[in-house]
Amino acid sequence: MRPFEKCPICGGELIEKEVEKLLRGGINNAVIKVRADVCLHCEERLR
Ligand SMILES: [Zn+2]
Repeated sequence: MRPFEKCPICGGELIEKEVEKLLRGGINNAVIKVRADVCLHCEERLR
């Protein structure tokens, strides 16, 4: 189950989306893809 059905900030609709996350680790940076619920209105990431 989703923790939120609507955006707690603006009340907009949420979609599940793959987003890129940058991990910094000394000299090595890695970009991983994670699933997150993203608001369609304000683009707030909820996970
Ligand atoms: Zn929102």
